[in-house]
Amino acid sequence: MDCIFCKIVEGSIPSKKVYENEHVLAFHDIQPAAPVHLLIIPKKHIATMNDVDAGDWGLIGEIHRAAQEIAKQEGVAESGYRLINNCGKDGGQVVYHIHYHLLAGVKLGPLHV
Ligand code: IMP
Repeated sequence: MDCIFCKIVEGSIPSKKVYENEHVLAFHDIQPAAPVHLLIIPKKHIATMNDVDAGDWGLIGEIHRAAQEIAKQEGVAESGYRLINNCGKDGGQVVYHIHYHLLAGVKLGPLHV
């Protein structure tokens, strides 16, 4: 499968990992948009939020649980952070392997279009 994040999971593309368990991986975004910019992904290939099947909701919960742990680990839990999923073309999704951006380390502004 020609998916860059699957290749990161396999290890054939390098990444700066910050967290890993059986189902979830988190690593630094290659083009950080904030002082802390991490991507949290399921190891299983799921293209978008629209493709999450009934059996996959546990994985989405695991990603949120990982985000909570990672925020503590990175020292941004207290100051706060933003967790974002971009879905599809109008959502700004570029990589079609579902992922959550964890952004922190600066006071983020309001969301706007
Ligand atoms: P999207 O717009 O929500 O799909 O975000 C995709 C993110 O993946 C962008 O912020 C990219 O900078 C990031 N990205 C793309 N390729 C790599 C990579 O090889 N390593 C780490 N991050 C990547």
